[in-house]
Amino acid sequence: MEKDQIRSNQALVEQGKQVVMNTYGRLPIALVRGQGATVWDADGRSYLDFLAGIAVNALGHCHPQVVAALQAQAAELIHVSNLYWIEPQVKLAQLLVDHSFADKVFFCNSGAEANEGAIKLARKYAKKTWGPNKYEIITMEKSFHGRTLATITATAQPKYQKDFDPLPAGFRYVPFGDLAALESAIGPQTCAILVEPVQGEGGVNIADQAYWQGVQKLAAEKQVLLIFDEVQTGFGRTGKLFAYENFGVQPQIMTLAKALGGGAPIGALLATDEVANAFQPGDHATTFGGNPLVTAAGLAVMNVLVNEGLLAHTEKIGAYFRSKLEDLAARFSLIREVRGLGLMLACELDRDGAPIVAACLEKGLIINCTAGSVLRFVPPLIISEADVDQAVAILEQVLTEAGA
Ligand code: PMP
Repeated sequence: MEKDQIRSNQALVEQGKQVVMNTYGRLPIALVRGQGATVWDADGRSYLDFLAGIAVNALGHCHPQVVAALQAQAAELIHVSNLYWIEPQVKLAQLLVDHSFADKVFFCNSGAEANEGAIKLARKYAKKTWGPNKYEIITMEKSFHGRTLATITATAQPKYQKDFDPLPAGFRYVPFGDLAALESAIGPQTCAILVEPVQGEGGVNIADQAYWQGVQKLAAEKQVLLIFDEVQTGFGRTGKLFAYENFGVQPQIMTLAKALGGGAPIGALLATDEVANAFQPGDHATTFGGNPLVTAAGLAVMNVLVNEGLLAHTEKIGAYFRSKLEDLAARFSLIREVRGLGLMLACELDRDGAPIVAACLEKGLIINCTAGSVLRFVPPLIISEADVDQAVAILEQVLTEAGA
């Protein structure tokens, strides 16, 4: 069989099963093209992608400015090592600093890698500033921080850790949203609290303003760094550029990935000057981190996000979508709760969500299910009311057929 002639779902699925490691529960279609909120499979069928937010995020698929930036940069300079200064990297760092609490940025390639860097930076800063026994990181039950050894350890969910032990030492877990539990967990060895502003993989779980204010106060009182994992919430997803803005608090360290490159693989670790200065030359590095291609894509994403009113649109369309989901919840008893922030929305069901996800896919809507029973909606921020109406109509049909 000529490899480059394969262009059907079935052929790609069959060949993929033979040669690609079996680590994902993949659905039986191959996606080959995307534009805005729409993707096409290898058989030419189109789908409304309400899951793009966990990767391509804000601008949707193949945004013309991201494509143009990638094409222009690819023709100019694709990669040089971080032994030199890289123009789009410097410019993207400047934009991130201009629009966040942070003073310094380190670029890497993924969310897990950004969190690894955050853990290293927090420990280095704490040891240098507060003494050698400050090393422990407190994280939240139901969190998700990545799939490397340190980040599965930070991820306080046994299913991600099972059979990969021994795991790195120095992590402690508390329930998300429980300030008293957090307070009693903080000890003299604690150096940082690592937390998602809205838990993504754990089921789109939110905490209120009072919790966040309390966390910030506790961290300051007890000499503990606050690290926000904004890998999923960052870049406008919650209606603010960064989710911490919703709560009137600020971390000292923040991690980003997913949306930052509009689909190009890039992660970032941001910190205040004081904390960032704990890293000295030779302390941390990665070959492709912040290379010209991905940072050129990131610059295009930032420019569109900041300059084209997408954040206000996200709040408005998010509220519209949420009200439609609440209408469904009032009519279908299997929906227990609608929750989320901005365009990071979810319906908690009274049952396994996988059959609903599969039935939506059949009808041309891509969503997914987290924590077993939570339907998650993270569409590109550029979606229109008509896109929401179409998605809700499909969901309604699926729920009707589910007989609930
Ligand atoms: N942190 C959060 C909050 C995430 O949602 C994810 C990915 N789902 C990660 C970290 C890991 O990112 P990556 O897959 O890019 O390593």
